[in-house]
Amino acid sequence: MKVVFLGTNGWYDSPTGNTVCILVETARAFMLLDAGSGLHKADRYLKADKPVHLFLSHLHLDHIIGLHLLNKFDMPEGLTIHCQNGDLEHLKAVIAPPYSMPFSALSYPVDFIEHDGATLDTDGFTVRSAPMRHSVPTIGFRIETEGKTLAYCPDTGYCDSAVELSKDADLLIAECAFRPGEEDERWPHLNPESAARLAHDAGAKKLVLVHFDAYRYPDLEMRRRAESASKRVFTETSIAIDNQAYAI
Ligand SMILES: [Zn+2]
Ligand SMILES: [Zn+2]
Repeated sequence: MKVVFLGTNGWYDSPTGNTVCILVETARAFMLLDAGSGLHKADRYLKADKPVHLFLSHLHLDHIIGLHLLNKFDMPEGLTIHCQNGDLEHLKAVIAPPYSMPFSALSYPVDFIEHDGATLDTDGFTVRSAPMRHSVPTIGFRIETEGKTLAYCPDTGYCDSAVELSKDADLLIAECAFRPGEEDERWPHLNPESAARLAHDAGAKKLVLVHFDAYRYPDLEMRRRAESASKRVFTETSIAIDNQAYAI
């Protein structure tokens, strides 16, 4: 399994990069975790011979703004968009005229799956979702394939559901919108220490921090400070940077 970080910012684009979008390549499928503006780089990696699965955590615009670029790509094996129960209706209202080209006008087939926590087995992987703790309903995903487990915990505060979803993951990709020590109960996000605590409590093998709030993290030096803060709690921490790739 290969992971490429196409976008690693939260909230908006800045000199540090694009908003969140992560590409995962396996032998049988491509996966995309969220569809921020980093999605525009996906055609550097996508090949026509495999289906594409796109997993949407929630509908905040920094996670879906890339969807208006879908007509840039060719996905002859089809695109399946996974979202939480109830979000599809809203998604179809936004990715439609007058805002954007509708899904039905794309040159390739698009399917939709709404997740309610049940496990789905398709195209060489299994996936299930769990609720996160955020200002709007949000889900994370646990993907198991090729003997490895990847957990994605996007916009969330620390919660038991995120720990359970990330249990014994080979790679936990967790958001880190807040600065070290920062918390806000009205609009929950992880900070470097709480993301590290999540990784530790879940027994994850490796943690990569992503979704750095563009206002709070104006440069990569700030991200490196977050990495140091996280490593004091969970040593196997790295920070995601746009265009970086990892093999799991
Ligand atoms: Zn976000
Ligand atoms: Zn959000």
